Amino acid sequence: MRNVECESCGHTQSQTWKTGDLCGECGGSVRADVACAWCCHYVPAHKFCRDCGFEMVALEHFGVARMLKSSQIDKLSLPGKIRKMESDHIEHFRAMFNRDYALLDTRMEEMRLAESLLLHKNYSFTFQADMLEKLPFDDEVKAFLKKGPTGAFENRPLRLAEVAQFSPIGQTRWLAMLAMARQPQHEHEFTERCISNLKMLF
Ligand SMILES: [Zn+2]
Ligand SMILES: [Zn+2]
Repeated sequence: MRNVECESCGHTQSQTWKTGDLCGECGGSVRADVACAWCCHYVPAHKFCRDCGFEMVALEHFGVARMLKSSQIDKLSLPGKIRKMESDHIEHFRAMFNRDYALLDTRMEEMRLAESLLLHKNYSFTFQADMLEKLPFDDEVKAFLKKGPTGAFENRPLRLAEVAQFSPIGQTRWLAMLAMARQPQHEHEFTERCISNLKMLF
């Protein structure tokens, strides 16, 4: 739930970025934004959310806060409620949240596999940012995210064909096709799939 972006060039920093590191692209200073557990916008990590005024909870309590929000607790009481909760209760909520998040993560992994071979690498982040406010997911979203292939995808370009065909996310299917075009072993399959997709359009 953290996004680290360069203040000068806007480049999103890699997963290995740590506090104090400069931009991997231009060497400028970077800003780490965190997701507000109430409005789900990525905002600077201050005491209160810039966009909705929510008293920000620690990063590790994001999931617990989302679970509590879904039970209709009001905005002002939520942070205090977490402070008073027993640790096993927090763990229980966290585990429930993580089950939902894992479904999202699988779909993001698919996107990251395609991204790893493409120029732009921010599709999975944008997708995640859009999905956060739906957490915890209702049954319909869960059923949707459960469709399609399951992990692992990292460093497995041979799985692109499967993703291009079966991912429930239209954008991911296209990204996987574009990534396949850059993989010699997939070239034939890519052309075939493009032709069949174009046929469907016309
Ligand atoms: Zn930069
Ligand atoms: Zn907020």
